[in-house]
Amino acid sequence: MKELTGNEIRDLFIEFFKGKDHMVEPSAPLVPIDDDSLLWINSGVATLKKYFDGRITPENPRIVNAQKSIRTNDIENVGFTARHHTFFEMLGNFSIGDYFKKESIALAWEFLTSEEWMALDESLLYITVHPEDMDAYNIWRDEIGLSEDRIIRIEGNFWDIGEGPCGPNSEIFYDRGPDYEYGAPAEEMYPGGENERYLEIWNLVFSEFNHNSDGTYTPLPKKNIDTGMGLERMASIVQNVPTNFDTDLFTPLIKKIEEVSGKAYGEDDARDAAFKVISDHIRTVSFAIGDGALPSNEGRGYVLRRLLRRAVRFSKELGINEAFMFSLVDTVADIMEDFYPNVKEKSDFIKEVVRKEEERFLSTLDEGIRIYESFRASVKDTTGVISGEDAFKLYDTYGFPYELTKEYAENDGLTVDEAGFMEEMKKQRERARSARKAGESMQVQSKTLADFTAPSTFTGYSSMSEEAELLLIAKDDEALDSYDGEETVELIFDRTPFYAVSGGQIADTGVIRNDTAEIHVEGVYKGPNNQNVHIARIVSGAVEAGETYRLHVNEEKRRFIVKNHSATHLMHQALKDTVGEHANQAGSLVEAERLRFDFSHLNPLTEEEIRTIEDAVNERIYEGLDVRISEMPIEEAREKGAMALFGEKYGDVVRVVDMEEYSVELCGGIHVVNTSDIGLFKIVSETGIGAGIRRIEAVTSRYAVEYYKEKEGLIEEVASSLKVKEENITKKITQLYDERAALKQEIKELKSASAKEKLSDLKDIKQEVGGVELIATEVDAKNAKELRSVMDDVKSANQDAVIALGSASDGKVSLVVTVPKELTDQFKAGEIMKGMAERVGGKGGGRPDMAQGGGTEPANLTKALQFVNEYINN
Ligand code: ATP
Ligand code: MG
Repeated sequence: MKELTGNEIRDLFIEFFKGKDHMVEPSAPLVPIDDDSLLWINSGVATLKKYFDGRITPENPRIVNAQKSIRTNDIENVGFTARHHTFFEMLGNFSIGDYFKKESIALAWEFLTSEEWMALDESLLYITVHPEDMDAYNIWRDEIGLSEDRIIRIEGNFWDIGEGPCGPNSEIFYDRGPDYEYGAPAEEMYPGGENERYLEIWNLVFSEFNHNSDGTYTPLPKKNIDTGMGLERMASIVQNVPTNFDTDLFTPLIKKIEEVSGKAYGEDDARDAAFKVISDHIRTVSFAIGDGALPSNEGRGYVLRRLLRRAVRFSKELGINEAFMFSLVDTVADIMEDFYPNVKEKSDFIKEVVRKEEERFLSTLDEGIRIYESFRASVKDTTGVISGEDAFKLYDTYGFPYELTKEYAENDGLTVDEAGFMEEMKKQRERARSARKAGESMQVQSKTLADFTAPSTFTGYSSMSEEAELLLIAKDDEALDSYDGEETVELIFDRTPFYAVSGGQIADTGVIRNDTAEIHVEGVYKGPNNQNVHIARIVSGAVEAGETYRLHVNEEKRRFIVKNHSATHLMHQALKDTVGEHANQAGSLVEAERLRFDFSHLNPLTEEEIRTIEDAVNERIYEGLDVRISEMPIEEAREKGAMALFGEKYGDVVRVVDMEEYSVELCGGIHVVNTSDIGLFKIVSETGIGAGIRRIEAVTSRYAVEYYKEKEGLIEEVASSLKVKEENITKKITQLYDERAALKQEIKELKSASAKEKLSDLKDIKQEVGGVELIATEVDAKNAKELRSVMDDVKSANQDAVIALGSASDGKVSLVVTVPKELTDQFKAGEIMKGMAERVGGKGGGRPDMAQGGGTEPANLTKALQFVNEYINN
């Protein structure tokens, strides 16, 4: 065994398989491209599905890659086993219908044991195979020469994820020796059991069946090999260290965490787990953000959020109480820079995202505590148990860790229904699993299209109609000689002007004719062997293989699609110039009526930024830039500074769309000849479609003019309802606003004047009778309620006075009397009211300090008020 760094192992692996005629497939981004079935790239094969299910035929059937992978189903293990990560690298060799079991086993063995390569001690390697896979068993025994006790048969060794290719697999284990038996029960102590002694390093999958949609298994037309070796595990073996976290892929991170926390690694198991969790999760998060994912409340973003929170939770174990994860990003970038420069390039952005998310979580913790307290309040004096559902809600909705809920409950003398919580967790996991199962499968191979290799030339860059021979009619995975039914069929011609959907540009539609038939093209896509496949419906006549047809693209629609595509390129550049280089394309759709463009950016664009982008694009349209399209080696394109779309895979020769160097992009789409053809560009909306992803929708040419016309109509409407000429609209509105403000002011002044008036009136009325302040007067009030409210005002300004108010309205008299509390020994409001009410022919009463009443003789109101005077005097 040699001592090798992680980087060296990766290099050697690739070099070894290159030497065996494999082509190198670059590591794809963690966020799957054109594959909605996967949340993350979780293995080397995940990015090669297109080859495995026959959608695309690779240039070379032997492939090698080092693929970054994320596996969240291993999360609970992370920190507690020596060998599990949420982010790790899988080194793999693949054969697409080329070599099979025998060679793949021989290759793996040679790489692991040969002196020139890994030089592992043969006697420490163990193998597992599927019990029915006698081929593999025999190869290991007879060709490699392993004794039978080192080949273990395990039922679970069958790789099957639902529809698509599947087959038995064979795993290679390395015996780390008896020192590694800690923690595992004796019955698990075998290669393939749950233990640390026999470490699984490599899995060889022999995919030889197709799992069909009806659940049956049939032999695959082309058998494949798919293997995966864990880089971190291999490093732990050749560096002879106890866990993956002690390899050079992790030690700089562990050191950095020691620095930040002031705590030492390697002294305490619980603390070490925290070191491991944090160093694992920051790798995952940094890489995922570097590849375009962002924390959010759903899907991928949710995974990132959970990982960050889990790490922050563990950081408490190290006594860290503030945002710190972001400070580890540079270390991740440094360790991985050689093979994955991406993290370093984007480190500022990544750090910013991580820091914000951490800070947010720290404040979420505060919120969680509040929610916890409300749960506590509702059970404290009753059951004394926080229900499983509530604990789960805290955990799931508020990101409040279960352990914390338990801790708080203990402090408060409460318990938590742990079984109930686990039950909720289980339900959640089942939901996740069934979601995964439903989506993880590949497409079933279409054998007809996969086998059909005759070329079809795309002529649509320069023409919109073509005479062509119909080479293939495919329906339900069969080739037909002719078809005249109502369902759609798939057609391949020797040449076609129809563009197949790709790079965001939608497919052309149009008609196909000959003297007897008319066929409508509803869609076009790229087949496995690169021909454009037309999805067609027969309107009249029939299609017949071998016949010649005239193919016509819908020209008008194409004209507008093309304008929008070129406008998209201009906008992409203008956007970067305006908000920064990080604004990468995250998806685009180019249709005839509009274009849609998604990009990574944290904040909404301001009005001013939108204006700047619009102006920049329109300037380029006025300038009339020539659009030059050429093919060149990828290296040359890079030198020209061509913008390559993130995650898109390009061949050695690429097509470069250059708009006089303002915008240079790799693109297979169709464009205008000169930017002036776009006519006009207008952004119609800018919205967020997920954390950190913004979406712009824009229109060009006719559709931009229509947009402006609509606005013009609106202005006309406004002008006519304001009854002014259009050019006077703003003047009129300002004038209306001014008038409104003046009116408001006037009302305010009037109100306060009249209130003052009333109060000052009353001041004159206040008298002193026998040393007591008295107000007895008639006021304006429509009814008793209004009278009471006047009383409130008067009273608040005359706290020490006896007050009697009366009002007359509609032949009725309302009366109210108040007496300050200090005077109620001497004067009783009820008595006063009684006397007053009698005088107006009515009744009244109340408390000593407040009484109400009324009568029916308004003419006697003055007498009633005079009675108050008399009462006090006596
Ligand atoms: P295990 O049983 O140890 O969890 P697995 O059977 O899930 O591994 P495979 O799907 O066969 O693993 O993946 C192939 C290889 O990738 C494994 O042999 C291992 O070296 C590596 N690997 C798989 N999962 C992880 C992980 N979570 N962390 C680190 N390496 C892993
Ligand atoms: Mg396995």
